[in-house]
Amino acid sequence: AHFDSPQSITVLGATGSIGTSTLDVIARHPERYHVHALTAHRSRDALLRLCQAHRPQLAVLDRAEDADWLAIQLKAAGLATEVRHGETALAEVASAPEVDIVMAAIVGAAGLLPTLAAVRSGKRVLLANKEALVMSGALFMSAVAESGAALLPIDSEHNAIFQCLPPQHRGGLAHQGVTQLLLTASGGPFRGYDRQQLAAVTPEQACAHPNWSMGRKISVDSATLMNKGLELIEACWLFDARPDQIQVVVHPQSVIHSMAAYSDGSVLAQLGNPDMRTPIAYGLAWPERIDAGVQALDLFSVARLDFESADEQAFPCLRLAREAMQAGGTAPAILNAANEIAVSAFLERRIGFNGIADMVEWVRDEVALTPADELPQVLAADQRARQLAQVWLERQR
Ligand code: NAD
Ligand code: MG
Repeated sequence: AHFDSPQSITVLGATGSIGTSTLDVIARHPERYHVHALTAHRSRDALLRLCQAHRPQLAVLDRAEDADWLAIQLKAAGLATEVRHGETALAEVASAPEVDIVMAAIVGAAGLLPTLAAVRSGKRVLLANKEALVMSGALFMSAVAESGAALLPIDSEHNAIFQCLPPQHRGGLAHQGVTQLLLTASGGPFRGYDRQQLAAVTPEQACAHPNWSMGRKISVDSATLMNKGLELIEACWLFDARPDQIQVVVHPQSVIHSMAAYSDGSVLAQLGNPDMRTPIAYGLAWPERIDAGVQALDLFSVARLDFESADEQAFPCLRLAREAMQAGGTAPAILNAANEIAVSAFLERRIGFNGIADMVEWVRDEVALTPADELPQVLAADQRARQLAQVWLERQR
């Protein structure tokens, strides 16, 4: 296609792993894309460098003091970028009328409100922030339907499934002749470990993923298989699937990014080198294809593809997530909130690796479920789960 003017993009979480990969792809196509706003939490130095490279209209940080610092630096560098701070500013740059595309790449529940703001204003939303959808699935998907937003999954597995499904996959999987979604998992750095071995692992080991380089929170989630659990919930909402229609397949090479199985026996897969720029470029250009800067897949150097089932005894988080989706209502929001607290506690060495699943299960059993059709119900469940996670932490000492 030929664009009269480049499309305007806001990158939420620009300094993160997904954010910087997004900017890498965008910079390869200046005739197609232009950066409207970049946001970060506290990493003001990194945001300054990104503003110098991409010259956005707006930059957003969490705190006023960081925003003031950034404004001074930008002015000194001769840039006209305007700086704002706080949650309202995040929602504003996600929903501004001049914005066409929003990359939702904040990590965790902090991304919910700005991502919803982008959805409600009918943008093309590139969804990396899976926690936002996991927390608020029902209301998130009805907001997509109401606003006409184009929701494009960036999580590599969901991007793969999206590519393997017929173009119009609304109306349930069975309607499209799809019998099962096969969600691949690398198995993480501790594949093959038992509970006893897992008790001794460190945050450094958990963050050293064999195939993907990612932020610390998702790295720990990959190690516990909570990431696959969150992805199972994400897939249920994105593709209108039931948990029993999704099979997790451990595939250590991370070359097949996921698959769709059809009633005629066909299984369609999407393959590629493990590089998030592929799904990001797909989301940006869909239904077209653009260069992502990713090397072509060399099957002779891959040589073999292995598959095994997931060990839910050693990695109970996958089961906990499936059960949360089956329970419905606020259960996924509670699971997500408890997991966020547990992962931070593990990274701070306050609990061991197995403590993550233990905490999530305890909180799950303590917090009463409610429907999750309204945002206040979701936010209340999130808060309550965080409070109880703190109680569990106190009791461990
Ligand atoms: P990251 O930690 O590298 O980056 C997170 C970004 O969010 C940073 O820009 C940070 O400044 C910002 N941020 C953090 N806390 C914030 C807060 N409270 N308020 C506002 N901004 C905040 O994380 P990442 O690995 O890039 O992951 C981002 C999201 O994408 C996550 O939801 C993750 O699950 C998802 N995802 C990541 C990958 C990957 O390969 N990294 C793959 C699939 C999905
Ligand atoms: Mg993924």
